[in-house]
Amino acid sequence: MGKTDPIKRAHELRENLIWENELMVVDFSDTLQGKDTSRVIDTMPNVATGEYVFRAKVNVKELDKMASAEYGKEFFDVTQHTNTEIEAFTRKQEFDFPLWYKHQPDFKMKNILDYNPPFIFQVAGCNFHDGSIGGGCSYCFVDNKSNDGVVSPGKAFLTGHDTIESMLSAREKIKTAYKEAGQDMHIRVLRASGGEPTLALDWILDMWREIGNRGLDFVGQIDSNLSTGMLVDEFERTGVYEPHTLEKLAEFPIKILTAIKGVDPHNLQENVQSYTDIAIQEHSIKKFLNAGFDIFPQMYNPDPATLRPYLEHMDDVIENFSQRIHIGPLKAYGPTIARIGESEIEAKKEEWDSNYKNGCEILDTHLRKRYGVGYKEVTRSDVPLKILKK
Ligand code: SF4
Repeated sequence: MGKTDPIKRAHELRENLIWENELMVVDFSDTLQGKDTSRVIDTMPNVATGEYVFRAKVNVKELDKMASAEYGKEFFDVTQHTNTEIEAFTRKQEFDFPLWYKHQPDFKMKNILDYNPPFIFQVAGCNFHDGSIGGGCSYCFVDNKSNDGVVSPGKAFLTGHDTIESMLSAREKIKTAYKEAGQDMHIRVLRASGGEPTLALDWILDMWREIGNRGLDFVGQIDSNLSTGMLVDEFERTGVYEPHTLEKLAEFPIKILTAIKGVDPHNLQENVQSYTDIAIQEHSIKKFLNAGFDIFPQMYNPDPATLRPYLEHMDDVIENFSQRIHIGPLKAYGPTIARIGESEIEAKKEEWDSNYKNGCEILDTHLRKRYGVGYKEVTRSDVPLKILKK
């Protein structure tokens, strides 16, 4: 396995990912990821083809009666708590994703469950992954075959229209199952994950246009590994994407998960096994912000030695940036173990855990000094971001 050139790799992947109006996505049947994530809500089919290309993941297990029982967590019953208590509880969790939608006009804290499990499809290629065994981020939880961009068993082609119809069908079944378990839930979030969804923004924009034209009450999430800002510029210049694709997408109620996978060039390239760099990451972040998106940075495996200067720099460039950051713990899920092996995990786990713990402490100290608030003491969507330096 070798480090990828992320732009060259993105071009190669793009050749295979889009065929007319269809996008190559992961078919989760027979994947470890499918098994890992279907403990509460099963993988779901494309209603047009029967292929199992959708999954849901309960982000905050504690808010969900079935998930809390399945994962052995204490159940937090939203019907028994005030709005303030629900918000304070959710803000502290590993995944605060439901609160990203707090400022949507029809968001109600009592209905936070509607935003908890997103309906997910996965673009079947990532430009950090060279397609070999063990390619991509060392902690990647996507099966290798789901991330290599090759037309092969385990992939399926999907239209935006069928995605919408499949979500409408699945949400009714999910609603019935939750009602039987004693909870009201009307799944709202359509998440484009991967792989790297920014390689298919034209397809995603067309889908959201249909969602808008039909007046559906979906909200969105798009994930990005922050390596493709310049590629999006190029795709717009060369006509692969129409002009102002990101700006047009930002008119829809979509939030962006921006994954910060390193805080200095060495830390970043080692984590992702790709020759991307911090300036590219920063350019991509600014590109989303300039387009009008609300972004939520999720940081993984920061080097504690360089985290503090990174935070200082980013706060000088983008007002309040570090108040928006969450650091994610790295866990060895089934696909991760299969990808890199038990002994490699054993070797890396100590560093992952220590970088997570130290990273949270450094972020907390930085926030208290610079803003007078601790880590996870404010709801991220309440904190405005503003670019200070181009
Ligand atoms: S960016 Fe995401 S999908 Fe790509 S290799 Fe890393 S963890 Fe996997």
